[in-house]
Amino acid sequence: MKLVLLGPPGAGKGTQAVELSAQYNIPHISTGDIFRKKIKDGSDIGKKAKSFVERGDLVPDEIVVAMVIERLQERDTAGGFILDGFPRTKAQAEALDRCLSDLRIDIDIVLNFDTTEDVIVKRLSGRRVCKQCGATYHIVNMPTKVEGICDKCGGAVILRKDDEEATIRNRIKVYNETAMPLKEYYKAKGLFVTIDASLDYKELGVKLEALFKDKIG
Ligand code: AMP
Repeated sequence: MKLVLLGPPGAGKGTQAVELSAQYNIPHISTGDIFRKKIKDGSDIGKKAKSFVERGDLVPDEIVVAMVIERLQERDTAGGFILDGFPRTKAQAEALDRCLSDLRIDIDIVLNFDTTEDVIVKRLSGRRVCKQCGATYHIVNMPTKVEGICDKCGGAVILRKDDEEATIRNRIKVYNETAMPLKEYYKAKGLFVTIDASLDYKELGVKLEALFKDKIG
């Protein structure tokens, strides 16, 4: 299964991607996660991306495209993959298509997570992330067992800098500016399926399972 997840930050793409990745045994490729790791490691790409990520602006296409192309050539993508947060611009989608056609791979579905700005702000401002392993929680919907401590690895659970409200609003604005041509691009290819991402993550998971059974078998 080769899947692309589209949708604004906070639409729940990452949460569903983690479930789907385990269920279908395919890698979850989140460009946001890769950037955060590279920033933490202080790598060259991390240094170039840092200021964009912290402001909630898009990292320039050439940096992100090169990074994804490299990632898609790793062996674990042979049985499929879930792209989460990429592509974000039409130019990225075109670059992805060129890369996939060289690798003789077709995307199966582009899932569009549709929700409102209010839902996003509520979700993201309550989101907490483990500094150590990246596991995500929500102070109301998915709290840790012990406050501030990751259930999975015992690391510190924090509010991401770009999940502060002013940055969230900028990320939504940036998303809205680039999303429309991207959606049109995939609609024209007949790959586009919209789902109601205002549902809570369990209900959404059930809907997605039914959708994949129907589409992919
Ligand atoms: P995310 O976790 O997907 O919301 O991504 C966090 C941040 O990483 C974004 O606000 C951007 O600064 C950067 N980023 C992630 N994916 C992309 C992309 N496809 N193109 C440009 N910037 C990206």
